[in-house]
Amino acid sequence: MKLLEYQAMAVMDKYAVPIQKGIVIDAKEGAAEKIKNAGLHFPVVIKAQVQIGGRGKAGGVKFADTVEEAAKLCGEMLGMDIRGHKANELLVLEKKDIKTEWYLSIMLDRCSKAPLLIFSPVGGMDIEETARTSPEKIAKVPLDPLRGVQDYVINYALDKTGADKQYKHQLKEMVEKLYRMFFDYYTMLVEINPLAVDENGRLTALDGKVEVDDNALPLLPDITAFRDKLQEDPQVIEAKKVNFLFIPIDESGAIGVMSNGSGMLMSCIDLISKKGMKIHAALDLGGGATSERIAEAVRIMLGRSQIDTVFICIFGGITRCDEVAKGACLAMSKKEASGKNLILRMEGTNKDEAAKIVAESGLPITIAEGIPNSVDTIYRIRKGA
Ligand code: ADP
Ligand code: MG
Repeated sequence: MKLLEYQAMAVMDKYAVPIQKGIVIDAKEGAAEKIKNAGLHFPVVIKAQVQIGGRGKAGGVKFADTVEEAAKLCGEMLGMDIRGHKANELLVLEKKDIKTEWYLSIMLDRCSKAPLLIFSPVGGMDIEETARTSPEKIAKVPLDPLRGVQDYVINYALDKTGADKQYKHQLKEMVEKLYRMFFDYYTMLVEINPLAVDENGRLTALDGKVEVDDNALPLLPDITAFRDKLQEDPQVIEAKKVNFLFIPIDESGAIGVMSNGSGMLMSCIDLISKKGMKIHAALDLGGGATSERIAEAVRIMLGRSQIDTVFICIFGGITRCDEVAKGACLAMSKKEASGKNLILRMEGTNKDEAAKIVAESGLPITIAEGIPNSVDTIYRIRKGA
C-alpha cells in the first residue's frame, strides 16, 4: 500500500525525522479560512496528494505568496488528474529555502536480500536524470540486518558521491530513523526526495514516499486507517472480486501479461522486459482456466486503454487448451477488443484443436510456442512486422 505524502510524513514524524508541518485541504469551501488559521508563513507550497511521484513536473506542486492566491490554487488543483490519479486532497506547507536537494531511500532489495540504502547529493525532480547521466553520484549500499546502520555505510555513501562529509552525523541519524521505520512498518520503500539542505546546513524531508507490504496491514492499524483516503485501482478491485490478482506495473507500458501462476507470470515479465518492452500490467489467473474466466480476465485487462497487446501464457498439463482458445476468441470478439492483439501460448490437452479454433475464428490472435518464442512474437507484432 502506497501512502499519500501527508500520511508518510505523519509516520516519519513519529520517528522524529525533520519534516515540515502543514495542513490538508480537501474542499474548496473554507480553504482560505483554513490556510489563514494555520498560521503559516508565506510563501507556501501547495501539493497534490496522489500515490505517485513526479507531481512537480505534472503541475501538482505550486507556490503561492498570499492566502488568496493559495486558496485560488487550491480551487484549481483539487480534483486535478496526475497521470490517472485524482487529487482529492492537497497539502499546504511553508516554502522552504533550499540550498541543495538530496535523495535518500531505503528499499527492500531482493538481489542483495537486504534493505538497500540509496543516497545521492544530486536529488530532486531530476533524480532519474542523475541516475542516467551521473551514476557515480548515486550510492547504493545494502544494510546488513545483523549490523544495522554502521558508520562505514554513511562514509561510503558520502565518499562515493563526493558529498560534503560535514553532514555525516546528521545523515547517519536520519538513516537510522528511516531504518527503524522501515522494519517497524514492514515497508518495501521509504523515500525522501528531496531531502533538503537549507542555508543553515540542516536536513529536512520535503517529500515522503512510503510503501507498506499489504500482508502486514493487519498488524498496522494506524496505516490501515489511512486506507479510506486512498483511491484503489479500479482494475485491481474488479479483479479481486472474481479472484484474480491484477498487478499494475508501468503506466507507460502497452502490454498486458496473464498467466496461471505467479512464477510463470514473473518469468514472462522478465523476458519481455529484457527484450526492451514495457509491461503495463500483469494478471494472475490462478487455477482453473475455463473459457469464461479467460474471457473475463482479458476484459479486465483491456479496461486499461493503454494496453494494445495481451499475452496469455498457460501451462496447464490437464488444462484443456480448447477451453482456453474459446475464452480467448470470446474476449477478442468483443467491441472493447477491437484494434488489440492477443498472443496465446498454451500447453495442455487438446492443443491442436485449440489452434484450429483460433485459426477458424479469424480474430487477431496469434498462437506461439514456448515463452521465448512468444516474446519474439509480441515484439514482431508490436513493431507491425
Ligand atoms: P514530486 O516528487 O512528486 O515531484 P516533491 O514533493 O518532491 O514532489 O516536490 C517537487 C519539488 O518541489 C521539489 O523537488 C522541491 O524543489 C519543491 N518543493 C517541494 N516541497 C517544497 C517545500 N516545502 N519548500 C520548497 N520547495 C519545495
Ligand atoms: Mg519528490
